[in-house]
Order: sequence, then C-alpha cells, then structure tokens
Amino acid sequence: MIEGGCFCGAVRYQIDNALDRARACHCSRCRKIFSGASSAYAEIADGSKFSWVTGEGELTKHTSSQGWGLAFCRICGSTLCGTFNGKVHGVTLGTVDGDPGVQIEMHTFVGSKAPWDHIGGSAPQFNEESPNSTASE
Ligand SMILES: [Zn+2]
Ligand SMILES: [Zn+2]
Repeated sequence: MIEGGCFCGAVRYQIDNALDRARACHCSRCRKIFSGASSAYAEIADGSKFSWVTGEGELTKHTSSQGWGLAFCRICGSTLCGTFNGKVHGVTLGTVDGDPGVQIEMHTFVGSKAPWDHIGGSAPQFNEESPNSTASE
C-alpha cells in the first residue's frame, strides 16, 4: 500500500498496490505545472487501484490539453495527481509518503531544460520524449 497527501494534510490518497514508469520531464510545460525543475511523476501500475482517502472535495482540477488534467489541493496548492479523461492516471512523487517503490527511470525533454537545472544520477536522458513512451504528457 502506497499512501500520500498534500502539504496541508486535507487531501490524502492511497494506491493498492504499485506505481510504475517514474520519470522526470524537464519541458517548459512541466516546469510550470510542477513549479520546479521538472515533473516527478509515476503512473498507477496496471492492475493497481488508486483511491482518495480524504479531502477529495478539496481538489481543484485543471484540464490542460487533449483530456489530460491535474488535480491539486485548493487550500495549499499541492499538485497531487495527473488525470486522463477524468480518471486518475498517476501521482506526483513529491506527495508520496515514504518510499514509493519506484525511482526516476528517465529524464525527458532535457533539450529544453531550464538553464539553472543540473540533472544528476544515472537515469537515461532524452532530448525530447523517450523513444518508447506513450507520450502521456
Ligand atoms: Zn492541502
Ligand atoms: Zn513535460
């Protein structure tokens, strides 16, 4: 069981049982969406179940493009999850409590990263989308 929540604690979620495809996207859109150097995001693994524990009513949703959206806490502003056609698709790794069981496995859109961004670690870096991605962002 993976648990997480927003900064103020109003919104909590759980995932039974796994995340998959953790990645950091450094594109200009993700920098704005995640208010940082990149996204830090993982998908709900196939066969796993996401559910809100508390505070679903405090969520504000923003639909960006082509069915993709985000849900964030209207009180503290934490971005909690990404949605596709209204359904939770994945979570922001920064909102997971403890070890999410995945590590960033790739950096995408490194070719357009912020000038102040220094990427560490050994995960592969792609100038644009990963060649075997489903282009979800
Ligand atoms: Zn909050
Ligand atoms: Zn991106």
